[in-house]
Amino acid sequence: MENKFIYLDNAATTKTAPEVVEAMLPYYTEYFGNPSSVYGFASKNKEEIAKQREVIASALGAKANEIYFTAGGSESDNWALKAAAEAYGPNGGHIITSKIEHHAILHTCEYLEKRGYKVTYLDVDENGRVDPADMEASIREDTFLISIMFANNEIGTIQPISEIGQIAKKHNILFHTDAVQAFAQIPIHVDECGIDMLSASGHKLNGPKGIGFLYIRKGVKIRSFVHGGSQERKRRAGTENVPGIIGLGTAVARAVSTMEERTAKECELRDYLISRISREIPYCRLNGDSVKRLPNNVNFSFQFVEGESLLIMLDMKGICASSGSACTSGSLDPSHVLLAIGLPHEIAHGSLRMTLGEDTTHEELDYVVDVLKEIVQNLRNMSPLYEDFMKKEENV
Ligand SMILES: *Cc1c(COP(=O)(O)O)cnc(C)c1O
Repeated sequence: MENKFIYLDNAATTKTAPEVVEAMLPYYTEYFGNPSSVYGFASKNKEEIAKQREVIASALGAKANEIYFTAGGSESDNWALKAAAEAYGPNGGHIITSKIEHHAILHTCEYLEKRGYKVTYLDVDENGRVDPADMEASIREDTFLISIMFANNEIGTIQPISEIGQIAKKHNILFHTDAVQAFAQIPIHVDECGIDMLSASGHKLNGPKGIGFLYIRKGVKIRSFVHGGSQERKRRAGTENVPGIIGLGTAVARAVSTMEERTAKECELRDYLISRISREIPYCRLNGDSVKRLPNNVNFSFQFVEGESLLIMLDMKGICASSGSACTSGSLDPSHVLLAIGLPHEIAHGSLRMTLGEDTTHEELDYVVDVLKEIVQNLRNMSPLYEDFMKKEENV
């Protein structure tokens, strides 16, 4: 048997690009100085960090001193929400978010609820979109923060972010967006979208793991999350992750310069995969918005099939994908996102997410569809529910 390896889980993480690794290496081996030190040997690092901060800021239409390096998307999300609560709701108050956020947002909201904050979790429509009018209607006297993700990591749906941003601005409410999936896949301009805070992460854009940033608009009163030294303009202590920052900046520059071409190619491959699966595998359903969708996201539910079994069998064929419950491995609860778009439990359980990467090819997808067809049919042949269903079909 051939040794295939087809990686279709780029929403979970991506391969660090070779030129990113190459840019990082000297900062381990040669320029290892602490950027806070005064001697010239270390000051090169300080300058390099400043350069990367510029690169990232310009990718968002922001200023360099509005970018704060963190240890990734989860930390950025935690920081944005907890620090906003502290600064803008010292005596409690109300936060608006959605039911389909990443757990870094949802679990932070639950944490804040336990501390007396009130949270509205907005419903989404069957395609996973938040309705801006709905959101506006849920604003209360004491609402101090709106946090809505730019694009969803499971079903790829892109939210009407600039409409949400305009509404937040009109009501003078702070607006945070988790853009971990969207940044460098969709052009983002923080002013045009009315974004006050934005989270992003290196390892979702062919950069290193354990590094990300939080954009904080100038004038937003956010205090430090990690106390200690005066790094990151006293807002995030700790010796800078110099190689990580170099890697992140290099990855952002690279992802931004290739964005147009890369996402056009991904969209084409995505639509090819979607159309082949829809046409060739019966009793399936595409999850997420068919148009307002991340260029690399494909998410299907297959009736009469268990997502976990599907993943194991795909793995045996050398294909890495994800089911609807990627972040809750060990638990059998279907994904909160798939439930929020109205899927019944049994359909949500049969879900498969495939997220393409910059190296994904047509050939790979052809192989994936062929394998998937066979696996889905084999699993269905073992399903008593499918058997009952087919008997009924034959009798009509
Ligand atoms: C991956 C992801 C995160 C978490 O980012 P880490 O860098 O892994 O902490 C947060 N939000 C979304 C939407 C994600 O996809």
